Amino acid sequence: MAGEGAHAGTGEPAGIAVYVSPYPYLDRLQEKMEERLARKVPVKGRFCGFCFGRLRESDAVCPFCASSIDTAGTVDEIPQDVLKAYQAKQKTEGLWVHSGAFSGLLLAMALFLLMVVWGPGLLGHPALAFAVLIGGGYVFAQLFGTFLGAQIGYRKGARKRDSMWARWLESHRR
Ligand SMILES: [Zn+2]
Repeated sequence: MAGEGAHAGTGEPAGIAVYVSPYPYLDRLQEKMEERLARKVPVKGRFCGFCFGRLRESDAVCPFCASSIDTAGTVDEIPQDVLKAYQAKQKTEGLWVHSGAFSGLLLAMALFLLMVVWGPGLLGHPALAFAVLIGGGYVFAQLFGTFLGAQIGYRKGARKRDSMWARWLESHRR
């Protein structure tokens, strides 16, 4: 779950992140859009004319943005520019999670070397240093990647996505 969770948007730290999107439906749509970006779902379909959430035949109100379908209308495909906004969020978040995890691993390696080369007495014992390398690598990768990286990445990615969506709204809504 640690490394690969990043791309699926599974570990969304919704409650922890300080940033609150002015467009809450974008957060609700993020996972669906990532599935669409990965082509796990059909490209064509029936989508809300306002937020481009996928609709079921029976929906009279969009389950994502609460628009009335009568007013918002429907489209049969999600515009590329809209998908790009979600992709920007996904990539930014993934980058922060992965580089955070990588920094954690580097830190554990640095500690390992420090202990082996300069560690006095028991601290310099290779077995202990190795335990620090493995255990520390795991803990630091979680801390810097899954925890810190995911929070920072969520904020930065969501901001980027939201500003792209704001620009989309400006240029397409009359
Ligand atoms: Zn909608």
